[in-house]
Amino acid sequence: MSSSARVAGVEVPTGHWIGGGRLGSARTFADHSPIDGALLAEVARGGAAEVEAAVSAARQAFGGWSRTSRERRAELLHAIAEGIEKRTDELARVETADNGALLRSHLRGVMPRAAHNFRFFANWLVDELAHPEFDTRGHRNQVSWDPAGVCALITPWNAPLMLATWKIAPALAAGNTVVLKPAEWTPLTASLLADITAEAGLPDGVFNVVQGFGAEAGAALTEHPDVRRISFTGSVPTARTIAAAAARNLVPTSLELGGKSPLLVFADADLDLAVRLAVEQYDNAGQVCLSAVRLLVEEPVAEEFQRRFLERASLLRQGDPREPDTDIGPQVHPRQLDRIDGFVRRAVAAGATVALGGEPNSELGGLYYRPTLLTGARPGSEILTEEVFGPVLTLQTFSGEEQGIAMANDSRFGLAATLVTGDPARAERVSARLVAGTVWVNCFFVRDLRAPFGGSRESGIGREGGTWSFDFYCDVKNSVYAQEGWNG
Ligand code: NAD
Repeated sequence: MSSSARVAGVEVPTGHWIGGGRLGSARTFADHSPIDGALLAEVARGGAAEVEAAVSAARQAFGGWSRTSRERRAELLHAIAEGIEKRTDELARVETADNGALLRSHLRGVMPRAAHNFRFFANWLVDELAHPEFDTRGHRNQVSWDPAGVCALITPWNAPLMLATWKIAPALAAGNTVVLKPAEWTPLTASLLADITAEAGLPDGVFNVVQGFGAEAGAALTEHPDVRRISFTGSVPTARTIAAAAARNLVPTSLELGGKSPLLVFADADLDLAVRLAVEQYDNAGQVCLSAVRLLVEEPVAEEFQRRFLERASLLRQGDPREPDTDIGPQVHPRQLDRIDGFVRRAVAAGATVALGGEPNSELGGLYYRPTLLTGARPGSEILTEEVFGPVLTLQTFSGEEQGIAMANDSRFGLAATLVTGDPARAERVSARLVAGTVWVNCFFVRDLRAPFGGSRESGIGREGGTWSFDFYCDVKNSVYAQEGWNG
């Protein structure tokens, strides 16, 4: 038996999606909205049995799907993209209800990007994927990208549908079948996506969704011996558990993890630009893995930077993420709000100064945390080293390029770095020495799906995007053909 819930005016199925059908569950978990705490849905809570059913459905579907022509696979991915485009409004409303991110961002940026992920990999499959050929002493080498099999995809709550499609699209394009385990705080748009794939005509079992908790459904999935790839986006502690499971089965694993990225502002920078980029780090209430949360400002301009930053940041409007003029919505879950507040309190106790915010927004109540800036934190202290994943930035000063680079790289993470400078030679010099998967110079969050995306150090293993995604989801094969001797 399966059921559905009405969320933001949209009927959302609450069961798993396995083998092209809905599967309800006697065990459920409650999904609440971060906007006002309302109960949105009781969602099926999967475990080993549901994972077994989903992996088995995906295995059965693999033979047919992996032999489906590239053109047909691309056609179906375009049809899924079209389904997302047609239902952008519904998806955006449900996602906002579920994770509290701004409705206008979902409408304008996030959902179009989710659709684009499918279109991009569909086009890549047909137009870009090269099959190199070369000769070795009269033998022809031919490289091909064979699909790996059943892929386990595990995703977080901060951009639920967008991050899921970023994995689903290349996995399916390459001819794999998929079992997705969405985050338990934001399970709903994955359910709608399942409907969209069915409407698009994707064969049964090619895409499956098991809902539930990480320690139950997630663990069962990553430990399953028939899984051939694991792609995970989430936190470092979970990544360690998943990597251990993957090691037991020797399964290639892609890990996109956290960050503590720096924003370096040199004295020669356009300060208005620097301030604008710094204030952007509060987007999505600071729940962005790439956020440049460590503001590092060269001494001569630090005071002026801080003055202008506070001026601009104090104009941010915090409130209901469904309202078009809101800049910052709520945190996703009471546990995150408490966690963020704990970090700030401990930072202050350890000597940091609150220059902005520093507490939950008591006027709004609920899960709203004021955009916060801390100054004077002690080098090496928790607030400068641990990922907060909330609207909390720190400001430190540096003197000269060497110290700026050293402070930027002084982190266990290496996901991204942003630098603002008016000197092109400095930009080249500094970016060459930053430890980061992505460096942005005088800009932020510009993403091209052809580009590699991922992190160094504890920010992850592997890269996603363009050819990097394809390589990951495929068993790359070289076939060597003798050019002579065909007739004995
Ligand atoms: P999380 O690690 O708590 O959970 C992520 C997913 O893993 C969820 O679906 C969860 O159910 C599942 N999970 C938990 N335990 C599991 C287990 N034992 N086995 C299998 N699956 C398990 O992370 P989160 O709090 O949902 O997300 C926030 C984190 O994600 C932050 O650290 C953030 O930086 C990171 N993130 C990284 C990127 C990136 O691309 N690098 C993007 C977004 C978020």
